[in-house]
Amino acid sequence: MPDERILIVDDEEGILDLCLQALSREGYQIWSARNGLEGIELAKKHDFDLVLTDIKMPGMSGLELFQAIQQSNPDIVGIIITGYGSMESAIQALKLGMDDFLLKPFSLNELKAAVAKALSRKRLEKENERLKALIPLFQLSQTFITVTDLDMLLKQVLQLAAQETAANLGVLMLKNEDSGRLEICGLVTEQGAQPPSPEYRINDQLVWNALQSGQPIIWRAGPGQGSFLVSESINKRITTAVALPLVVKEEKIGVLGLCKEKKEHAFMRSDLELLSVLASQAAIAIQNARLFTRLRNAYEQLKELDRMKSDFISTVSHELRSPLHSISGYVQLLLDGKAPDEATRQECLEIIYRQTQHLTNLINDLLDASRMESASLVLQKEPVQMYTAVQEVIAELEPLAEQAQITLTHNLAPALPTVFGDKERLKQVVRNLIHNAIKFTPKGGHVTISATVEPGRIVISVQDDGIGIPPEALPHLFERFYQVDSSATRRAGGTGLGLYICKQIVVAHGGEIWVKSKVGKGSTFIFSLPL
Ligand code: ADP
Repeated sequence: MPDERILIVDDEEGILDLCLQALSREGYQIWSARNGLEGIELAKKHDFDLVLTDIKMPGMSGLELFQAIQQSNPDIVGIIITGYGSMESAIQALKLGMDDFLLKPFSLNELKAAVAKALSRKRLEKENERLKALIPLFQLSQTFITVTDLDMLLKQVLQLAAQETAANLGVLMLKNEDSGRLEICGLVTEQGAQPPSPEYRINDQLVWNALQSGQPIIWRAGPGQGSFLVSESINKRITTAVALPLVVKEEKIGVLGLCKEKKEHAFMRSDLELLSVLASQAAIAIQNARLFTRLRNAYEQLKELDRMKSDFISTVSHELRSPLHSISGYVQLLLDGKAPDEATRQECLEIIYRQTQHLTNLINDLLDASRMESASLVLQKEPVQMYTAVQEVIAELEPLAEQAQITLTHNLAPALPTVFGDKERLKQVVRNLIHNAIKFTPKGGHVTISATVEPGRIVISVQDDGIGIPPEALPHLFERFYQVDSSATRRAGGTGLGLYICKQIVVAHGGEIWVKSKVGKGSTFIFSLPL
């Protein structure tokens, strides 16, 4: 077959030339060397299909040369050129793995026939191996279609890859979908699947090479080769390894690594072919399993949102009904003339006024949340003196704190920096946080507002020594409609929109918001704004 690569090694110039010319005419690519060492140097640079070598050469014998090349190229075919005198060594060479011999003197036809026969036998063997290799792949593709659990899938891919290539160790690294960083997600050793440990990470350079080239990268232990795995001690045991890129539709999702510990077991070309097919199938299956998980999570979230929305409708109806009841009750009282004196009438009007304020706030929250959902929150940005803004909110809420017998204090320095933002929206955040702190702190409690300046940002916190929040609720607090399921929440009323709105406003300003809390000890809500 044209293009197959042949290395000819002989110290007899005449034979070397003859073979070179005869085989070049057949369309093979030929390299020649005059001794074993030269031959080995060439084999380091080129991936030969066949070596045709004299048996007896000064320095290194043909058999030694063949065995040296075989270490890094286990698929190489070897033909030995021998005279009657060295027949015994030639037979020994055949026993030790060389494929055929040519007895001197030989004709050109004998030479061509021996080369063609050895190569075609190798091709047949390879074809046979390829077909055999397809069987586990068929079995695997069945698994790939049905397994949607990612961990299970990774385990099966690694086990099959290690088993079919007789590797001692298999490592699977995948890109984290959020951070884009490669993380070790699967590990098998001879003892079976193991919890992935960062010690088994594949060397960054090799990972990069595999991902960049889209090709398997073969690594062999040796001076100047670096290490395959990051852990020196584990790496010491490995003699050869391969890193295969996992690619789906040009997206590089990870790397599959397989390592062998014993020298005589290099990866064969057929191993690499099997691994390449396996890697491409596995990549698709992994992507599918990830999609499936994302879909299932999205479905669960939708269900949860649906549940929260139904809860929300009943909460809102209740929240609207109570002030309306109160308003209509007091209006009725006034209409019926049942408020005997001016002071009582004044008191009725004040209650009506407070309840309409409450309704207005509620409706504003609902409108805000819906605006934020449709991403149409418009900020009127200007330089905002944070000290003044926070002071104004504190002054507004002092009567409420007093009524609830809560001590509302602050330790703000008047020289707080100016933030470029929407003053009313930023006040809304502070108002919501202080209001919540008052709502969820029993009589006699304390609410303190503080601010610190850090490099590039101002950090404002609202701390209370109230009822606190259970740890399982903390990750959900800033979600729409979320309310902690407690009697205190029900007593306090509300819609579960306040913190959601706070977060949207803070994020729209390029800041962050978070919370620390302990049940029974109190909560601290903190937000930062860039300066
Ligand atoms: P709501 O209108 O229900 O107060 P928020 O989004 O402002 O909605 O708050 C969501 C929930 O978080 C509240 O229902 C309450 O259970 C809890 N929460 C908020 N702030 C505090 C706090 N300072 N202390 C204890 N729980 C709080």
